[in-house]
Order: sequence, then C-alpha cells, then structure tokens
Amino acid sequence: MTGLEQHSADVVIVGAGYAGLAAASRLAAAGLGVVVLEAADRVGGRVVSEVLPSGVRVDHGGQWIGPSQKRFHELAAQFECATFPAWETGRHVEIWHDGTRSDHSGSMPESGPGVAEHGRVIAALGELALTVELDQPWLTPNFEVLDSMSAEEFFHSQTDDEDALRRLAHAVQRVWCCEPREISFFHVLFHVASAGGFEQLAGTSGSAQDSRFADGADALALAMAASLTVRLDEPVLTIRHTGDGVEVITGKAAVTARRAIVTVPPAALGRIGFEPALPPARRGWTGHTPMGRVAKVHAVYEEPFWRKKDRSGIATLHGRNPVGAVFDNSPQDASRGVLVAFIHGDRVDRWAAAPDDVRRADVLAALAEVAGARARMPVDYAEMAWSEDGWTIGGYACFVYPGGWTEYGEHGWRAPTGALHWAGTETASVWNGHVEGAITSGDRAADEVIAALKAAG
Ligand SMILES: Cc1cc2nc3c(=O)[nH]c(=O)nc-3n(C[C@H](O)[C@H](O)[C@H](O)COP(=O)(O)OP(=O)(O)OC[C@H]3O[C@@H](n4cnc5c(N)ncnc54)[C@H](O)[C@@H]3O)c2cc1C
Repeated sequence: MTGLEQHSADVVIVGAGYAGLAAASRLAAAGLGVVVLEAADRVGGRVVSEVLPSGVRVDHGGQWIGPSQKRFHELAAQFECATFPAWETGRHVEIWHDGTRSDHSGSMPESGPGVAEHGRVIAALGELALTVELDQPWLTPNFEVLDSMSAEEFFHSQTDDEDALRRLAHAVQRVWCCEPREISFFHVLFHVASAGGFEQLAGTSGSAQDSRFADGADALALAMAASLTVRLDEPVLTIRHTGDGVEVITGKAAVTARRAIVTVPPAALGRIGFEPALPPARRGWTGHTPMGRVAKVHAVYEEPFWRKKDRSGIATLHGRNPVGAVFDNSPQDASRGVLVAFIHGDRVDRWAAAPDDVRRADVLAALAEVAGARARMPVDYAEMAWSEDGWTIGGYACFVYPGGWTEYGEHGWRAPTGALHWAGTETASVWNGHVEGAITSGDRAADEVIAALKAAG
C-alpha cells in the first residue's frame, strides 16, 4: 500500500499487554521472527504504573499476584521483579448500607445481616463451579440452563434474604465489575472455576490479592518487551487475510506474516476492520462480551496513619458512597501511606460523570469513614477510570451476557479464524480475567501458531 512502511515477519501480534508479550517471547524463543504492534505509547495494557508527584509509585490497573498464578511467578522470577506481601495486618472494617460499622478479619464479618445466607449461596455456587469444563465450557452439565440465567436470577432462585442479596450483588460488582442483572451465571461459574474457587478470587493472603510488585506491576512487561520488536503508537486498523497468511495495517506500516495473534479484548475489537469479515460466531461473541466498568483512585498520605490504630486499611462499603472497597496500597517500606479505592459497575458510570471536585469529595469521604478524618487531606491524589481508556475501554476484563456462551462460545470464544489466533486473558481457561490468564493465553496461542507452521512445513 502506498506511503506505508512495508515489513514482514513470521508472526505479527496485535497488542503488547501481558498476553501479547508472553506470546511474542515464546515465539521468539522458538526461533520465529515476531513483530508486536501496540496502539498505546507504552507496553503493559491493563497493567500500568505511574510515579506520582509525591514520589510514590502506584498501579492504576492490575497489581496483585496470587500464589497459584504459576506462570506469572515464573516470569517475575526470571526477570527478577520482586514482590512483597500486600498489607493486611490489623482490623478490616465493613460499613453496612445503614452506616453500621463492624470490624473483622478474613474476607467478611463472621456474623451480621445476611452473612450466613450469603455464605450458603456462595457455597452452592462453588459446588456448581466444580462441574465446569474449563477447556470446553459448552460440555459442562446443564450448560445451557446455567448460561440462560443472569447471576441475579440465580441468586433470587436461592434466597429472598435482602441482606444476603445485597452482599451477593456487592461480590459481583467487586469481582466482575458489573451488575448481577448483566452477567451470565454460567460465566460466573466459569470464572470461579478458572481461579480455583470463589475464595481464590476474593481473598487476600493465599489468594488473588496476596502480593504486590516492588517496582510496579508493569515492570515485568517492560522487562519482557526489552528484547522484543514492539512498535508503539501503532493502532492496528485493518487485518486482511492474504493467500498465504495475513497483512496487518496500521497508520504507518503494513506488516505481512504467516500468522497473526490478536490479543485485544473482544469488546475493543470493533476498532479493527477485518477482510474478509470475521465469521458470525466470532462477531456474535464480541457483541456479547462487554467490558467490566471500574475505577481505581489512589490517595497518598505522609504515613499509613491507620496502622497505628491497628487498622488494616481494608474495607468493604455497602452504602450510598460510590466506593465499594478500599485497600492499603502503601509502598513496602511504608515511607508513605497509600489507600486505594475501587468503584465498580453502575456506580462508576455515575461517579465518572460527576465534576472533578464532587468525585474527589466522594472518594475522600469514603476513605475518611474507613481510616479517620486525616484521610480527607491527602498529599497526592490520582484517579483512573478504565472505561475512559481509549484502547481497552474497561476492566478488569470482559464478562459475558446471559446466553452468550451458548450462542457463540464454542465457535467464537478462541477457535482460530484462518491464519488469525486469539489470545488475551478473556480466552484463558485458568485465571481468566487476570494477568496469569493473559500470560497462559499468550503461551497457548503461540503453541497453536508453532504447531500450525510446523504442519504447513
Ligand atoms: C483496574 C484493574 C485492576 C486489575 N487488577 C488485577 C490484579 O490485581 N491482578 C491481576 O492478575 N489482574 C488484574 N486486572 C486484570 C489484568 O490487568 C488483565 O487481565 C490483563 O492485564 C490483561 O492482559 P491482556 O494482555 O489480555 O490484555 P491487555 O492488557 O488489555 O492488552 C491488550 C493490548 O492491546 C492494545 N490494543 C487495543 N486495541 C489495539 C489495536 N487496534 N491495535 C494495537 N493494539 C491494540 C491495548 O492498548 C493493550 O495494550 C486488573 C485490571 C484492571 C483494569
């Protein structure tokens, strides 16, 4: 095409998040020539760190690593990216919707409104999750029935305890960044199974929120990218099948390759033109897998003052304030105190639309409830609403509408389309929606490509 730089490679990869970088590393190690095209001006995708004016580094996106996330740990060790246990010493607090406070340890109070009933429904959900076929989800017993209902419909079929339902809704918002009415109950089960159980997803020590990275969670992405050919600021506009492979076109370059791996989250695929058009199942899948909605807000203080009062800084909030969860995100040496507030689902839409001063006042009011009045006076403050990120348009990951798995899962989820292979955390069977899922999806897609090229000779 005129005016465009012409390049060729064995494999072209779209997206330099953890999936794209894992795939590229594996293909390069197998001796293949790889070019990674990334729309943004950085690598890491949904994992991004920033040093704030106070000198504190914060993770605006993915930040935690859990002990069963084996590939993530392996790569962190290989590239010498140090981790440390997330802070959880002291009393956690739950602020109920009527303002009642209860201190606790563990994921939630041992008693209180709806606690026992919530536990019973989560246990029932956990039992059903054990039946999920992770590599071929459509073979799960009662697949169509489970996928036909929303999480909300399942919860209402199990209990009419309003307090338990409130807790269950909060769990969905917090884990999937959407509302129970929106998400397929089968997708909830699949996701729970892919993590190894609900507590693995929601818990802290020993679970997904176990540890953090000393130099930011994108340090590993930067280290992996250093030895790869990654072209930044190159949004892919068109992917075209040619007679013997693919041509991938950005505003600056056309790259021809024998195979392509696309790691963009399904909901963000709409910005790429495919020639010929993607098959109906893949199009249907992308139309039924919207991105979750989440914002992360960091407030920095001179010191983690709540620790002196035996408070962990970990909180669950059920009230009218948009913030749903708070954690202590202070640096390992506690040279500053940092609280991170999470806002999920419908609450983000309302919060993000408010003026700057209202958004900030809402978050600081929540932090003051959790940690005391001093929390109203941070030395630094930073917001990141992922729905406003131009390239990933949400987080933590895509979820699936009721019926989406049944209609489109088998042929649309991750089955290759000609010379196109699909990766990204949304295509993972293990730790779907997490960095571990992104990495293992990149590994799997790379293996598919290596096998296909070998077969072609
Ligand atoms: C707020 C938040 C908190 C999270 N917390 C955690 C956590 O603590 N632990 C955890 O394990 N996971 C967490 N996650 C999830 C985790 O970050 C993701 O699962 C993972 O980073 C996804 O990696 P990926 O490579 O699949 O996709 P992405 O990181 O989204 O990478 C896709 C890449 O494609 C690029 N791209 C998009 N369109 C184009 C185009 N047209 N052309 C070229 N490039 C394009 C994007 O810019 C992006 O870099 C969190 C996510 C968010 C948003």
